[in-house]
Amino acid sequence: MRLVLLGPPGVGKGTQAKQLEKKYRIPQISTGDILRASLRDGTPLGLRAKSYIEKGKLVPDDVIINLIRERLQKNDCKNGFILDGFPRSIPQAEALDIMLNELNTPLHSVVNIEVPGEKIINRLKNRRICRKCAKDFNLITNPPPADMKCPECGGEIFQRNDDKEVTIQNRLAVYDKETAPLIEYYSGKKILRTVNGYNKHEEVHDSIIMVLEGVH
Ligand code: ADP
Ligand code: ZN
Repeated sequence: MRLVLLGPPGVGKGTQAKQLEKKYRIPQISTGDILRASLRDGTPLGLRAKSYIEKGKLVPDDVIINLIRERLQKNDCKNGFILDGFPRSIPQAEALDIMLNELNTPLHSVVNIEVPGEKIINRLKNRRICRKCAKDFNLITNPPPADMKCPECGGEIFQRNDDKEVTIQNRLAVYDKETAPLIEYYSGKKILRTVNGYNKHEEVHDSIIMVLEGVH
């Protein structure tokens, strides 16, 4: 199954992608996680992306498209994949279509996760993640252990720099301008499925499985 998870920052795309990865045994491909790992390791990609990420802007399309092209060629994508955080602009979506059409492996579904706008800022402000494995926590709804060590891998749990309030506003504005048009783009292709993301993680997971039924 080849899936895209769509939705503004902070709607739980990463959490849902990880669950789907387990269920369907296909990899979660999070461009945000890949970029943050590159940043942490100081690779050329990380250096190139740094200033964009810190300002809450999109990393240029060509950089991201190349990254995805390479990633999708890996063996673990043979049976499908879950794209989380990509595409994020119309040019990225068009490039993805071209890539997948060449291989005769089009997308099955684009799952659009909806959360009321005013709830998103709180979620982002309270989000904390593991520096090592990217597992995420929420100070209110899913608090990290007091020692701020990840229960999965022992990594340090921290607040992303771009989860501070000024940058959050930028990211939401960028979403509205660049990414929201993808809703229409994919609904025109009849592969858009919308779920209510303002629920417990397990319930959102169940709704996603429900909308995916019959397409895999
Ligand atoms: P969130 O889903 O919380 O907004 P991500 O981890 O997906 O955050 O992305 C963090 C940052 O990485 C973005 O603000 C952007 O700078 C960069 N980024 C991630 N994916 C893309 C993409 N597909 N295109 C351009 N920039 C991206
Ligand atoms: Zn961890």
